[in-house]
Amino acid sequence: PHRVTIIGGGLAGSEAAWQLACREVPVKLYEMRPKKLTPAHKTGKLAELVCSNSLRSKEITSAVGLLKEELRRLLSLIMEAALASEVPAGKALAVDRELFASYVTEKIATHPLIEVINEEVISIPSEGIVIVATGPLTSEALAEDLKRYTGEEFFHFYDAIAPIIYAESINWDKVFKADRYSEGEGAYINCPMTKEEYERFIDALLAAEKVPFKDFEKPKYFEGCLPIEVMAERGRETLRFGPMKPVGLKDPRTGKEPYAVVQLRAENKEGTLYNLVGFQTKLKYKEQERVFRMIPGLEQAEFARFGSVHRNSFVCAPKVLTKTLQLKKEPRIFLAGQLSGVEGYVESTAMGLLAGLNAGRLAKEMKLVVPPRTTAHGALVHYITEADPKHFQPMNINWGLFPPLDLPGKVRKKMPKRERYKLMAERAFKDLAQWLEKEKILADLKFLQEK
Ligand code: FAD
Repeated sequence: PHRVTIIGGGLAGSEAAWQLACREVPVKLYEMRPKKLTPAHKTGKLAELVCSNSLRSKEITSAVGLLKEELRRLLSLIMEAALASEVPAGKALAVDRELFASYVTEKIATHPLIEVINEEVISIPSEGIVIVATGPLTSEALAEDLKRYTGEEFFHFYDAIAPIIYAESINWDKVFKADRYSEGEGAYINCPMTKEEYERFIDALLAAEKVPFKDFEKPKYFEGCLPIEVMAERGRETLRFGPMKPVGLKDPRTGKEPYAVVQLRAENKEGTLYNLVGFQTKLKYKEQERVFRMIPGLEQAEFARFGSVHRNSFVCAPKVLTKTLQLKKEPRIFLAGQLSGVEGYVESTAMGLLAGLNAGRLAKEMKLVVPPRTTAHGALVHYITEADPKHFQPMNINWGLFPPLDLPGKVRKKMPKRERYKLMAERAFKDLAQWLEKEKILADLKFLQEK
């Protein structure tokens, strides 16, 4: 088969390299460290974890637990390394970061089909199959080059993530549906506030604990995606003239415009997830839960994703990527990891695995594959490629991205959450197994044949 070039030896790039080499596809893996470090990485090891040492929940009733178990079933190197370097952390899978990165580095460096080159790549090779997996802190030169393929407007350097809540946790009696300056029921959900509620909310927002910006995150990125607490600091009325403005939104129960409004917009076509429009924030997660539950109608809100603002390179995946993670404009180029529009260690790994799998298939002139939507891998791919491109922001795995269970609505609603998630996980395993079988996903793995 043709050789595949991978740029970036982080979580996604290392996983992709392993998937390829184990399928007898030769790999050239470029990693710029240790010669050139990113502002967050400290070592020259592959798959360095830049922050927490936790890969989050191990339970399959958690969506990220399911994603990890799927990775394990797909024979992921990152999962193998995580299990080999596990440290006690209750229900979470946490690792000894040194052991973890050393395990991956050793496996990759000693594989006869992988050549590791410690150089920064400044432009994408003009020929051949390439996987770009340079992560949230992609070097500047390469980011510039990548923009030639994605278009300037579809490549981002900062995220501005608003919290997302589950639709079923909204108190529908307190909110109303309306679009600004439109008659009748609209697409937006509006949470109306009185003056007292607004003042109390602003006080809580100003007093809440925030995550400080890292030095490399401080540059001028801000305007246009200011965290709401920063807007509130500029003046108590700023939000009422910004994301919380009530103009053109009449509450049908009073016939009047409320004092302030928080708007929710559907995040997916199924309407299982809603985001708080314009509420990107650096509040600590616990504080987001506490402060945003002060919003009328959100007293019991369950969060599928918390808000954040980071330095983060990513593309507008629904515009530029296919479901096989190829650039629509240049299908020999795959994007993997955080760059592809997912958020998190495990999610980035999963996109590395899929990019490796498909790049290998392209190298061998085999049919490319997309995992079923009911699996965690499939749910993520579906989201990043089908989300509304106008408002696209990176996403972590959560249950709201999966199709609802095929049960009557009433039965589903009555079912305890854990039981529902267990059934969704079982459905994912069954569909994953069928997919592996039908598409012969593991059939060409060399070490399996040897066993
Ligand atoms: P990375 O793991 O960053 O790998 C990309 C690699 O590409 C790096 O090794 C880099 O050196 C290399 N590279 C970049 N440019 C070039 C180039 N031009 N040529 C050659 N090599 C290049 N997620 C979590 O789940 N938990 C966390 O606690 C967490 N904390 C984070 C903290 C920070 C500061 C950041 C920036 C992100 C964090 N993330 C976290 C998000 C994300 O999941 C991780 O960044 C994850 O490592 C992304 O995987 P990746 O493979 O896409 O990128």
